[in-house]
Amino acid sequence: MSTTYQEKRKSTLSQLAGETLDLLVIGGGIVGSGVARDAAMRGLRIGLVDRYDFAYGTSSRSSRLLHGGLRYLEQGRVGLVHESSVEKKVVHKIAPHLGQPLGFMFPVYKVNGFPLWMMRIGVKMYDLLCNGKNFKPSRGFTVKETLEHLPQINTNELRGSVRYYDALTSDARLTLDTLRSAVKHGAHISNYTRFIDSKRENGIWTCEIEDTLTGEKYTVKTRAILNAAGPWLEKIPHSEIKLRLTKGIHIVVDRKRIHVDEGEAVTMVEGKRILFLIPWGERLIIGTTDTDYDARPEDVKVDLEDIDYVLHTVNTTFPTVKLTREDIISSWVGLRPLIANRDGSPSSTSRAHQIKLVEEGWWDIAGGKLTTYRLMAEQAVTKIVKSLGISAKACRTKEEPLLTPEEAATYSGIIPTAYGEAAVKHYVENEWAISLADVIMRRTSWHFYIPDMPSRAAEVGAWMAAAAGWTPERLASELKHYAEEAAKTYPAPKAGA
Ligand SMILES: Cc1cc2nc3c(=O)[nH]c(=O)nc-3n(C[C@H](O)[C@H](O)[C@H](O)COP(=O)(O)OP(=O)(O)OC[C@H]3O[C@@H](n4cnc5c(N)ncnc54)[C@H](O)[C@@H]3O)c2cc1C
Repeated sequence: MSTTYQEKRKSTLSQLAGETLDLLVIGGGIVGSGVARDAAMRGLRIGLVDRYDFAYGTSSRSSRLLHGGLRYLEQGRVGLVHESSVEKKVVHKIAPHLGQPLGFMFPVYKVNGFPLWMMRIGVKMYDLLCNGKNFKPSRGFTVKETLEHLPQINTNELRGSVRYYDALTSDARLTLDTLRSAVKHGAHISNYTRFIDSKRENGIWTCEIEDTLTGEKYTVKTRAILNAAGPWLEKIPHSEIKLRLTKGIHIVVDRKRIHVDEGEAVTMVEGKRILFLIPWGERLIIGTTDTDYDARPEDVKVDLEDIDYVLHTVNTTFPTVKLTREDIISSWVGLRPLIANRDGSPSSTSRAHQIKLVEEGWWDIAGGKLTTYRLMAEQAVTKIVKSLGISAKACRTKEEPLLTPEEAATYSGIIPTAYGEAAVKHYVENEWAISLADVIMRRTSWHFYIPDMPSRAAEVGAWMAAAAGWTPERLASELKHYAEEAAKTYPAPKAGA
């Protein structure tokens, strides 16, 4: 089996190196994957490489929401909210298995910003910004009605609440399923393949890439390059966009710890920030934080300060719940690749995206959100096609489903795939899973959903060893690597797990 996979991988790298591409994408997060899909569907010869696993970066570490961003309305950024609100519905349409409409209960207090009547108007405007029709209409609730939905909510100076609609997704699955579609349309993609550098002669870029599993180097020729390396963007030679990275964590606790109704999340206000409490099957996802970060993206980890801030917010909103560190099943941490001004200071349009022609044939793309990835991809591919002066088909990503219902069944979804050997085999054979962490963290989210997953790593490792033909040494090194990745989250794996 491993030979088959190694052969497949080698053949992809040879294909990448064997023809002159129209476009090489650096980075297989949601943005790069969206571009690869769009470009492939328009008939471009397209390649994509990711230095680590697909979705290894921010695209497996978000709040997992398809959302317009209600708080941007408060800042008057109507255009941004409109764009994301339309896109959340588009993603829900093309990938219904990865878009579960969710009501958000927003308790309103005397002191937390706008009065209830204004919030009621705000959420009605929010409905309209989805081109007139949100998943369901928003509405307001009295204090009594609010308590029927959220019996444990802090009632001190509570004025009532509003409920508006966004959707829950799985960020990593959305990325992987976008890539599955890209490949179906002819894209050549390879994970664990690092873009090193490139130079341009006679209108063609010659790029050096490295298979990081073997150390083997390849040369790829392409007419255009798109740098979609997320938090790593500035480290890629030729790039120009300046980023400001901010860190955000989430914790996962048992659903039974806090009473929330089925299909209803909670928006919690902490000072000027908003945190979410999101039902996720038998769990609750709670986050996020927003603090500046300036070290290596690979080294980002969950700090106890972050954990305590999130716990404090929950316990202020639900005073009888008394959530503690012991309640935490898992956590994750991600970096927002936000656009900065040239001097690195926060840009006023920090949540907007930017697509920049840096030099002939070289494009940078950054910022934006998971929710707007499809639009970002459409705009980028349209610009690239125009600048290359080639003819291409019209963009169809707004209409064409990501996968067929059969393809989406069983091994993709918002709630993790059932734990078992069959799933591991599927991901190794069909979804480019190379390391143990690829399966446990990104293909399935088991690490975040199943209590004390690190103690089961040896079992999953044995399944993966069988599927991929690993030697005992490889299995040992994979278990060690997974434990290292898990140690960046909270709770860290117990010794010997
Ligand atoms: C805490 C948090 C919560 C968020 N919540 C939401 C939300 O609920 N909804 C929403 O819409 N958005 C949300 N976002 C924003 C969203 O997650 C990001 O905008 C999006 O995931 C960025 O994707 P990307 O493809 O640009 O970057 P990434 O996903 O980081 O992808 C970049 C890729 O480039 C690869 N790479 C790096 N260097 C190289 C190289 N030399 N060669 C090849 N590949 C390379 C990396 O391995 C990585 O896989 C959130 C972000 C954070 C941090």
